[in-house]
Amino acid sequence: MLSFEHRYATLPEPLSVECAATPVATPELVAFNAPLAAELGADEIPDEATLAAWFSGNQTMPSAKPRALGYAGHQFGNFVPQLGDGRALLLGEVVDQHGKRRDVQLKGSGRTPFSRGGDGRSPLGPVLREYLVSEFMAAMGIPTTRALAAVTSGERVVRQLPEPGAVFTRVASSHIRVGTFQFAAVRRDEAALKALADHAIERHYPEAANAQDPYLALLEAVVARQAELVARWMSIGFIHGVMNTDNCSIAGETIDYGPCAFMEQFDPQKAYSSVDQGKRYAFASQPGIAQWNLARFAETLLPLLNEQGDAGVAQATDAIRRFDGVFSAEQRRLHADKLGLAAESNDADALMEGLESQMHQGRMDMTATFDALTHYAASPSDERRDALLALTTQPQALTAWLEAWQAAQVAGQDDERFAAMRRGNPVIIPRNHRVQEAIDAAYDGDFAPFYTLLGVVTQPFDDSTEARRLAAPAIDSEQVLRTFC
Ligand code: AMP
Ligand code: MG
Ligand code: MG
Repeated sequence: MLSFEHRYATLPEPLSVECAATPVATPELVAFNAPLAAELGADEIPDEATLAAWFSGNQTMPSAKPRALGYAGHQFGNFVPQLGDGRALLLGEVVDQHGKRRDVQLKGSGRTPFSRGGDGRSPLGPVLREYLVSEFMAAMGIPTTRALAAVTSGERVVRQLPEPGAVFTRVASSHIRVGTFQFAAVRRDEAALKALADHAIERHYPEAANAQDPYLALLEAVVARQAELVARWMSIGFIHGVMNTDNCSIAGETIDYGPCAFMEQFDPQKAYSSVDQGKRYAFASQPGIAQWNLARFAETLLPLLNEQGDAGVAQATDAIRRFDGVFSAEQRRLHADKLGLAAESNDADALMEGLESQMHQGRMDMTATFDALTHYAASPSDERRDALLALTTQPQALTAWLEAWQAAQVAGQDDERFAAMRRGNPVIIPRNHRVQEAIDAAYDGDFAPFYTLLGVVTQPFDDSTEARRLAAPAIDSEQVLRTFC
C-alpha cells in the first residue's frame, strides 16, 4: 500500500537501530485516515483485517523496515542523555504526492532498546486524544504531525488503573527533534552530528545548503519555524503541556500530544498537565520555553559552527535572539486576523491586549469570545452584541472595548479581511471535556462520540447544529482540570 524508503537508516548508529514490533492479542481497526493515505501515495487500500494487522505491528507492511530512533532531551529542565523511541517504531519514509518525504511511525508497538522500565505500550485514551487534536490542528492549517490510523490491541495496559491498549500510526515531516541533536552532541559523536545536520538541511531546509554557513542557516530556519508555530498555538489557546526538548521538532511541527489541552476561560497562567506540577509549560510561558529549547539546539551545533572560530557562539546567540522578532511579527499578523483588522493595522497588539484583559477579568471563554466577535463583525446587530456581552461578567468594560474595536475593524466591509477573521477564529475546538467524553465512551466500547467529534473538529469553521452542540464551553460539572499522558 505504502512504498517505504529508508534514508534515515543510512545515518550512523545509534541514531536509529533495527527493532521489530511486538504483536498484540487481537488488533481491531478504530480509525483509518484514507485521505491522508491517498496523499501519501497509497494505491489500493486492503481490507480492515489487513490494515489492523499492519497498523498494530502484527504484520510488517511490505517494504517497511521498523527502527527505533535514538534521542536525548531536557525533560522539565533536566537533561536526560538517553531517551529514544521507547514505545515507537519508524516504519520508513514515504515520498508523498507533493514530493515531500514523510515519516510513518507506530506508537505503542512494544518494547525497544530504548524502553528502560516502560512497557512499550500506549493506552487508548492518549491515542484518541492525539488523533482528534492533531487532525484538528491540520484542519486549522497549523503545522502538525498527522494521524493515519488507530488500532485497539485487545490487551490491557496498566497505568493508574488497567486501561485498553492501542497502537497509533503517526505521520510526521520527520521525527528529528532538538533531542536528536542533543543525543549526538552528548555522545561527542561529531560524525553522527554532522550527518544528522546535513540530513535535516537536505530534508527540511534545502535553501540553507547554499548559505555561507549552512549550519547557522539551519539554526536560523528552525528558530523561525518554531517562533511561527508557537504564535499559531497561542492564537487558539493551545497549551502543549510537555514542551521538553525531545518534543521540539526540527521541522517546526507540533509533535507529541500527550497532555495537551485548550484553554477555556482566558488565563495566561493556565496549565492542565498532571505531569507539569510547577506550571513550567503554562500558556504564556510557551514562547520563552520554545526559545530556551532552541538555545539547547544551538549548543549542539557549536562544534559545527566553531569551524569558523569563536564567531560561531556570537552568531548562534544572535540567531536565538531573532526568535522574538519573528514571534512578534507572526503574532501581530494573527492578532489582526482574529480581530478583523487591516493586515497592516498598528492597533492589533493594543486591541488584543485589551481584549485579553477583558477575557481574563470577565472570565470569558476564549474560543466562544472570538467566535461571537466574528459573528458580530459579519452583522453588527443588537442581538449579536448581546450574545457577546453575555459571555463576560463585566459587560460595561467590554462595551467600552467594543467601541474602540469597532472604530478599527474592517472585516464587516471587506470580504477578504472577513475571511481571514473567520479562518483565525474556529467555531469549534476539541474541548477537553468533549475529548474526555469520547475517550470515556470508547472505554465502554462505544466509539460513536469519537467519530462524531472527529467529524466536527476536522471542519472547524462549519456552523452545523452538531458543531454548535459540541462547541459549547464546559459547564462547571464538566470541567476537565487535569490531563494525563
Ligand atoms: P513522552 O512523554 O511521550 O515524550 O516520552 C518521553 C520518553 O519516555 C520517550 O523516550 C518515550 O519513548 C518514553 N516512554 C513513554 N512511555 C513509554 C512506555 N510506555 N514504554 C516505554 N517508553 C516510554
Ligand atoms: Mg515525546
Ligand atoms: Mg507522549
